[in-house]
Amino acid sequence: MPLLRPDPKNIRVSNEDKLMPDYSLNFKTLDTNLVHAGRPRPHVEGAVVTPVFQSANYLMGDEATYDAVRYIRLSNSPNHHTLQARLAAIESAEAALVTASGMAAISTVILANLGSGEHLLTQRTLYGGSQSFLDQDANRLGISHSAIDIADPDGAGSWERALRPQTRMIYVESISNPLMEVGDLEAVVAFARQHDLVSVIDNTFATPVNFRPIELGFDLVVHSATKYLNGHSDLVAGAVIGSASAVDRVRHLLLHLGGSLDPHACFLLERGLKTLALRIGRQNDTAAKLARFLEAHRAVRKVNYPGLASDPSHRYAGRLFSGYGGMLSFYLEDAERAERFLDHVTLPIHAASLGGVESLVVRPSRSSHLGLEPEDRERLGITDNLIRVSVGIEDAEELIADFGQALGG
Ligand code: PLP
Repeated sequence: MPLLRPDPKNIRVSNEDKLMPDYSLNFKTLDTNLVHAGRPRPHVEGAVVTPVFQSANYLMGDEATYDAVRYIRLSNSPNHHTLQARLAAIESAEAALVTASGMAAISTVILANLGSGEHLLTQRTLYGGSQSFLDQDANRLGISHSAIDIADPDGAGSWERALRPQTRMIYVESISNPLMEVGDLEAVVAFARQHDLVSVIDNTFATPVNFRPIELGFDLVVHSATKYLNGHSDLVAGAVIGSASAVDRVRHLLLHLGGSLDPHACFLLERGLKTLALRIGRQNDTAAKLARFLEAHRAVRKVNYPGLASDPSHRYAGRLFSGYGGMLSFYLEDAERAERFLDHVTLPIHAASLGGVESLVVRPSRSSHLGLEPEDRERLGITDNLIRVSVGIEDAEELIADFGQALGG
């Protein structure tokens, strides 16, 4: 059959060329939305999968604001639109924004909501990068913070007492890195409303499969999408999710700071998301089995996993979460034994990061929290005998047997 080639004379830019597909497709369940929410209608050239739009710029339309001009840095390529609509759907929110990394999401959210002289309350242990950003960079810009005991609103370090007239935000993690602490998240939402604070939660560890903070009343959710949302340890990305106005405020700053996500990474992240529920279901189950095994092992001093009935975080997680995630950490007798364990495991990979299909083991004191002052690590319990595990999707029995031999029996 002859190829149908348009006559170049007849090619001109018409208004139809500028018509945008519709990205509002949304179904009832998270499992379905992971696969289909936000896919372009009509399908692009009939493609089942959103193709990679490797174009930095787009035809001008009648954009009324700079933010609306179509350009990759402004996070509005078709890959961004599909992915952002899907992320909003799975976190039960109005809007989402993808970013170049989890740290781009976190730093931009904080800088978009707080200015010099203002203050925020934070959970006592946070991901090391978030903590160092607050301690070093935000502090230098005049934004100060105070740590609170997230599990105890009224205790010795009461939240009320930590409040200042300049406090504008409360920032927590749904399951904290690396101690797997789950705070009184209902109280966080109530406290934020009472005191007119923006409530922000890093939902990287729980994922929307196990917990959806917007449904509880949080204003903004952030993710390191590098981890579970993508799930394959092959890209770095972040996300900010919430109401359209809250996300727009962050988008406006992101377009100046420039931490936008490349369309090819958007494409890979959209692909990874489709299997999130399957992966998390398996990782929840295996992590629970491994936590029980470690808890009963004589070489292990303590296990941190919110799914264990003995864990103090279980009282909150048990009420709010539908699963307890694939992350756990445990203490061995001393640093030497921890080193020996890392030398002897054969199945998990000794590496930083988390949330992929392969199991990983690492010492947070030497990786995610290496940027903290040594005395701060010691005070928080992020010591050299603490091992963090990111449970993958391998066979549970084979994984546990490997932990058993590496622990010595
Ligand atoms: N939030 C949590 C809970 C993390 O564990 C990490 C990274 O390990 C981040 C945020 C930062 O994400 P990224 O490395 O994608 O910038």
